[in-house]
Amino acid sequence: MTISFFSNFDVERSMFDVQFLHPSNQNELSPNSNCPDTGHRTPLFMKFETAAIHVGQTPEPETGAVIPPIYATSTFAQSAPGETRGYDYTRSGNPNFTNLEQTLCALEAAEFATVFASGMAAITAVISTLSSGDLVIAEENIYGCTFRIYDKVFAKFGVAIEYYDLTDPANDTIIAERSPQLVWLESPTNPLLKVLDIRRISESAHKAGAAVVVDNTFASPYFQKPLELGADLSLSSTTKYINGHSDCLGGVVLSNNPEWYEKMVFAQKAIGLNPSPFDSWLISRGVKTLAVRMQKHAENALAFATCLEAHAKTNFVRYPFLESHPQHAIAKAQMTGGSGIVTAEFDLSLEAARKMLSRFEVFALAESLGGIESLVCHPASMTHASIPREQREAVGIRDGLVRFSVGIEHIDDLIVDFEHAIG
Ligand code: PLP
Repeated sequence: MTISFFSNFDVERSMFDVQFLHPSNQNELSPNSNCPDTGHRTPLFMKFETAAIHVGQTPEPETGAVIPPIYATSTFAQSAPGETRGYDYTRSGNPNFTNLEQTLCALEAAEFATVFASGMAAITAVISTLSSGDLVIAEENIYGCTFRIYDKVFAKFGVAIEYYDLTDPANDTIIAERSPQLVWLESPTNPLLKVLDIRRISESAHKAGAAVVVDNTFASPYFQKPLELGADLSLSSTTKYINGHSDCLGGVVLSNNPEWYEKMVFAQKAIGLNPSPFDSWLISRGVKTLAVRMQKHAENALAFATCLEAHAKTNFVRYPFLESHPQHAIAKAQMTGGSGIVTAEFDLSLEAARKMLSRFEVFALAESLGGIESLVCHPASMTHASIPREQREAVGIRDGLVRFSVGIEHIDDLIVDFEHAIG
């Protein structure tokens, strides 16, 4: 029987062994091969909202506990040397990782997922696959700590990185000329919310023999699925929207390629990038409400962005689903919603911007994003302080720039808070 699953692909369903079709090959069954077979499988005929709640969350078979327990164990008993029940040591696998990986695979229609201790651990895992002499081409606006790990850690091992404005199709020729091993994208970018055409850039990268990584943290799998758009790897800090409650850290790398999966599992165990079972359990709990949270984040963010745009002290507002956004058409083509981050530049000196940021009462002045509570941050002195001023300002991160992670509180309270803070 063929049953509609996500909007753009179908599943074949049988009574006991349900598998889902990979969108790139809709006529051939492709097993969800991410995880050891625990003997209880979840039918994958579901819509996003249902999959977020049920996939990877089958009731525990011995007691029937509806919520799978936290496997707080570092190691697993073997019946004979080398004979395991799928797990040997938590650095290389734990049922709580498996549960979360299954859920995240279902949400992005991916075959493979590997969870990590943080978004930065996931980023480390991907970069660790490179060798001395390899080149990465990256969008010039990326998260400050991604910039820093290339600059201060992997440069020492001979991995080179070059930054370009990848919103400009003219720069695709650079990918062909420079023959990088990896093309590194964020979309929307942190903090400027540039929207990159993932399909176009992936095509250029693949012609040049490069793999494409998309940091999908800002969009969340609810609004964007990079693998369907042609990326080789979709990476997220699960600390943000996927968990959604600002109470733990995590990361994930998804792919449809067994070789990439092997590399990610190897990095997890060889470098010790694994998450804790408890954090994985928390993220499994948080992700169940991803759909409803994202809808509310996006509704609030659009209303908030519209209000900022009308304010006299605003130089510009960036929100992918505002018509004024420079890549609005691409956002609408590859995302199903604008997510919850709004960035604006105000006509304020550094001192005045700092004063404004200290006056918020509902928005907490804090790094991070993607939680249910609203946060505000000053990229130049917080998340992107590790990028030298000159380089930061050249891409547009100036002192008057403020990033809002719009939560799911009542929108009226958020607007009043902003009006009070800006004075
Ligand atoms: N990627 C992006 C786009 C981020 O904004 C962040 C953190 O803010 C990360 C990755 C790193 O995630 P984590 O803080 O979980 O290590």
